[in-house]
This record gives sequence, structure tokens and C-alpha cells, in this order.
Amino acid sequence: MTVLPKTDIGPPHYWEMLPPVIQRNYGQWKYHEILKPGVLVHVAESGEKIYSVRVGSPRLLSLDTVREICDIADRYCEGYLRFTSRHNIEFLVSDESKLEPLLQELHDRGLPVGGTGPSISNIIHTQGWIHCHTAATDASGLVKSVMDELYDYFTTMKLPAKLRIAVACCLNMCGACHCSDIALVGIHRKPPKIDHERVPQVCEIPTVVASCPTGAIRPNPKQKSVEVVEEKCMYCGNCYTMCPAMPISDPENDGVAIMVGGKVSNARTSPMFSRLAVPWLPNNPPRWPEVVETVKKIVEVWAERARPGERMGEWIERIGWERFFKLTGLPFTDKHIDDFIFSVPTFRTTTMFKY
Ligand code: SF4
Ligand code: SF4
Repeated sequence: MTVLPKTDIGPPHYWEMLPPVIQRNYGQWKYHEILKPGVLVHVAESGEKIYSVRVGSPRLLSLDTVREICDIADRYCEGYLRFTSRHNIEFLVSDESKLEPLLQELHDRGLPVGGTGPSISNIIHTQGWIHCHTAATDASGLVKSVMDELYDYFTTMKLPAKLRIAVACCLNMCGACHCSDIALVGIHRKPPKIDHERVPQVCEIPTVVASCPTGAIRPNPKQKSVEVVEEKCMYCGNCYTMCPAMPISDPENDGVAIMVGGKVSNARTSPMFSRLAVPWLPNNPPRWPEVVETVKKIVEVWAERARPGERMGEWIERIGWERFFKLTGLPFTDKHIDDFIFSVPTFRTTTMFKY
């Protein structure tokens, strides 16, 4: 029996949030299967079942949308739902007779059901221009544009394997970009601009100097300000978080990089970090056509050639990166070589260099 901690500190114990059917069959599940795109059933040793209906969420949710979702859960799932790590909503249905009416209601409300098995799950993303100060690109607008183009891969299961896409609007990477099959990362390409008049008024100089992960910021006592050593700057924007007189956003030079081949799963092969495929594409709101076209191309080339179950990174490792660049038509440039001043341990210096 689970003993719940008696405290008012922190979140409620997860046990209280579990549907009764999961509490009754905890740790005694026999198998699960995907009945159709977006609908899973878990069957317990006792014969009891629970259905999960996966729905794509808009990620940044308005209060009205949260109320709508909760209202649906109250009517079909005794109030039980959960959010996955990719911001899918999963309605947890324990009464089988409510499954089809729920699917009908979701359809009528325009909430898409899918994202299970060999499909694109909901795209996880960060705050973008809506909320974060260091964003080099928008997140929700970019995701909407990409997903409108790839929507068919969410509601069906016709891809070779799972495809996880993530967006982070700067290289602080609040999204899961390092471990996604395709990752879009907003990048700055210029050091912060320093407003020497405002720095002494609004910034604490030792804190600003300490905020730089590469030690690129030095005090500038003459102006009671700071200066940036450009060769050491990696355009992370961390100093701007500490000092609003050092803005880094730049409409001309900011843009989007695309990385590929990451995964968290340790099925078949070890987890993988994603690697650079496209160093920069322009920020072109509201529909980012260059980014959308490139992502679609990568998905389609992989979908056409990968073996069943083969994730993006596994496929690239099998065919080789040279062939990946050739098949996708993406140019391999000097920007793909890691020659940042602090990357000496990873810098490939031998004459045997191959990409
Ligand atoms: Fe802000 Fe960067 Fe995180 Fe986006 S990824 S929310 S810009 S810190
Ligand atoms: Fe340092 Fe990042 Fe600011 Fe560049 S952008 S000076 S690396 S904190």
C-alpha cells in the first residue's frame, strides 16, 4: 500500500492524481497496443483496461483552452488527463463506452488526434517572441508553420519510425533540441550591442562579467561599462538576461539553424545528440518558408529511404553523413566544422578529416 507523505510543501503526491484503474493495477500491466493513430490501450493482468487518447496541443495554452480541455476530461474521463513531455494531451479513458463519443467530440472541436507510433508527435517548443527576451526566432509561429505542412504525419502512422521535432528560440535551448530527430534552433550571429550610457545605470557590472560562460566580457572602467571580446563570444545572450543595456537581437543576422539525428531512446542504439545540418536560414515570419521547406525535405528523404523502425540518426549513421548531405541537397560548408575558440578538444585537426 502506498503511504502518502503528510506535508503541505511541494506538489501533491502523484498517487492522488492517478486514475483509480491505474491505482488498482499499479505495476501489473500485461501489455499495451496502439489501436489506431492517437489511441492506445493498456491491459492489466486483471483484465482491466485504460485507453489513452493523444491530442496535439497548441503548447502555449490560453485559459479558455485549458478550461475546454478540463471540461472534456470531466465528461469523458472522470477528470483524468495528462500532458506528455512533448506537450501532447492524453485523455485517460477507463470506460470503454466513452471512447468513441470522446473521439467524435475531439473531431467536432477540431482537436487533432494522433502522434503515436511511427508518426510525428507534437512539436515541443520554447517561449519565442511571445515571452522570452533572448529569443532569436519565434517558437509557436515557427512550429505552427512547420506542423501545418507536416500535419498528415501526425494523424497517420506511415513514417518508418518515431519522429520527434523540437524548437528552441535561442541556443540556451529550453526545448529538447539536443535529443530530437530534427531540431530548429534560433541563433544570434552578432555579439551584444553595448549601450555605454545605460550600462552603469541599469546593470551591476560584476554580475554582467560573471554571467558570460566564455569569459568574453571585461570591465571597461573608463566608461563605467563593459566591453565584449568578440572572438570569445558565442552569441548566447546570457549577458542580456543580466543587463538590458546589452541587447543581442538583430533582425538581419538572427535566424534558424537545423540539427538532426538526436534521440533519447536507448532502443536498438544508444541515445544520440543531434548534429548540425543547416547552419542558418533567415527569419522569415509569418510562415518561415525556407525553414518549412528544408524540414519537409529532410523528413521526406528519410521517410523514403529509412528501414522500418530506423530513427533519423540511426539512418544517417548507416548511410553516412556525406550521403545524407547529398540526398537532402543540403550544402556542407565551413560552418559545419566546429572551430570555436573553446572547442579545441573536438576540433578535428587531422588530415583524415571527413564529415
Ligand atoms: Fe528564452 Fe532561449 Fe529558452 Fe527561447 S530557448 S525561451 S529564447 S532562453
Ligand atoms: Fe558572453 Fe554570451 Fe554575452 Fe557573448 S552573448 S558576451 S558569450 S554572455
